[in-house]
Amino acid sequence: MSTWLQGRGASPGVAVAPAFVVAPRERPDELPDAHDGDARRERRRLDEALEQAERDLRDIAEAMTTAADEGQGAIFEAHAEFVADPELASLAREAIDKGTSAEKAVRDAFDEFSGLLAASADEYLAARAADLDDARDRVVDILTGAGPAPVPTRRCVVVATDLTPSDTARLPTELIAGIACEQGSSVSHAAIIARSIGIPAVVGTSGLLETVAADTLVGVDGSTGEVVADPDEEARRDLDERAADERERRRRLASLKGEEGRTSDGRRVEVAANLNGPDAVDPAVEEGAEGSGLVRTEFLFQDRSEAPDVDLQVEQYQTILRAFPNHRVVVRTMDIGADKPLPFVDRDPEQNPALGVRGLRLGLVMPDLLRDQLRALLRARAGLRDAARLAIMFPMVSVPGELTDARRMLEEVAGEEDADLDGVEVGAMIEVPAAALAARRLAREADFLSVGTNDLLQYLFAADRLLADVAGLPDPLVPEVLGLLDRVVADAHAEGAWIGVCGEAAADPVHAAAFVGLGVDELSMSAASILEIKDLLRRVDAGRLRKAVEAAIAAPDAGRARTCVEEAIPAP
Ligand code: PEP
Ligand code: MG
Repeated sequence: MSTWLQGRGASPGVAVAPAFVVAPRERPDELPDAHDGDARRERRRLDEALEQAERDLRDIAEAMTTAADEGQGAIFEAHAEFVADPELASLAREAIDKGTSAEKAVRDAFDEFSGLLAASADEYLAARAADLDDARDRVVDILTGAGPAPVPTRRCVVVATDLTPSDTARLPTELIAGIACEQGSSVSHAAIIARSIGIPAVVGTSGLLETVAADTLVGVDGSTGEVVADPDEEARRDLDERAADERERRRRLASLKGEEGRTSDGRRVEVAANLNGPDAVDPAVEEGAEGSGLVRTEFLFQDRSEAPDVDLQVEQYQTILRAFPNHRVVVRTMDIGADKPLPFVDRDPEQNPALGVRGLRLGLVMPDLLRDQLRALLRARAGLRDAARLAIMFPMVSVPGELTDARRMLEEVAGEEDADLDGVEVGAMIEVPAAALAARRLAREADFLSVGTNDLLQYLFAADRLLADVAGLPDPLVPEVLGLLDRVVADAHAEGAWIGVCGEAAADPVHAAAFVGLGVDELSMSAASILEIKDLLRRVDAGRLRKAVEAAIAAPDAGRARTCVEEAIPAP
């Protein structure tokens, strides 16, 4: 019998498939350095773990191939080959003979191999380094007793409490029809990933894990935020109709792909894509993105035991820059810390990581990391004169002095590289309330500002962006928030800087309309929303939205502010 649950829609679309439940995994924080002196026993542990991992991987590969998913099968077959590699085993055994624990020996051996692959000039081989990391984790998990991280072997709806970036990294996206999370908000990672690969997602669904067991048939509607467990015939029909409507809507929007973002009265507003990695490039081009307003470069740093070297970064940046000739690509420097920790950065744990050394703060205390990234960006640009226009953006700026320091670092690196900074725009994200207040001074030092509403709202409302219980609090349509943003936009323009919005709010039609009324020059969002926002722009009149936003700022509450903006949006 159908059980309907109500969550929050986080990525549009409808999917029905059996549930794949991602259970929280227990992992020891640190691996033991040394074994207890019995090297023979330790070698046996190693051999058994490698054998078990290989067996598991071959079973998965076979199951996938039987399910006619040969591409996925081949990936797991390749993982099995890695695990069975005699050179790798002998490297690990040598370390065990010197006293190293099996856990550490096998991890180091894998990392040595993966470092070699990652440095390869061959794009395909370099991408295999991530597969090697996956295989490594499987063996280490067997040794520590954590058990291998399960992965789906057929098309499914992923059901979880919430998904971490590494959960999402290890899930084969081709098999994921939809995502449903008990926790999380529309700006948590599961939601962002779902939008970037264009699959439906619902978050903040209380009671989800009590209702849905592994393999239960689940339907998700990412527009209404509904999840249905075990749908009966009537519910199935209902979901099929919704899916057909969604296909029709997307077909109608597809005609806007080649159009530029412009309001009905001719105001140009660029509609760009947020890119979470090279995989997001094709969907963004496919949806008609006008460049990128936010390349989240964390993908290069996460799930690695060492910092990525400059050559690898150059290659990855070039892949992205090449995809958008004649457009601007805003690459944000590594925004690590808080909900995006960096495995190879050895820093004391912080009690409040969201308020700690993250984003540009981390780049300034670990300058070698940031300098390498800036160097890679300049080299990537130098090698590709005709590709996209490079813009460099610094995250989590709190005070103008940080931007001054970052700019100086960029100039120094440019000097060392003999690189010309002419034409490279430099900008700051507005994510911290203090930065919003200091927008005028920041804009004096910047070519552009970009409002990160995900973090700015989290900090303005003191509401953790990952916590479903407080997800209802942050609202860009609160009159005082609109008033603050109005000032930020005016401050940017007064200093000749352009201003965009790259938080998830840019993808919400009512919020986006409000931002247009405030006068922003660019909206950057997940690929899945680009056509919808282009469609919105051609329906609205910027002059009328300006008046609506002025009324919204003077409104007595957020509800009435919303009405002011909604009334200025003609129906499709
Ligand atoms: C933001 O904070 O709005 C933003 C775009 O950055 P991220 O979501 O990567 O923190
Ligand atoms: Mg942010």
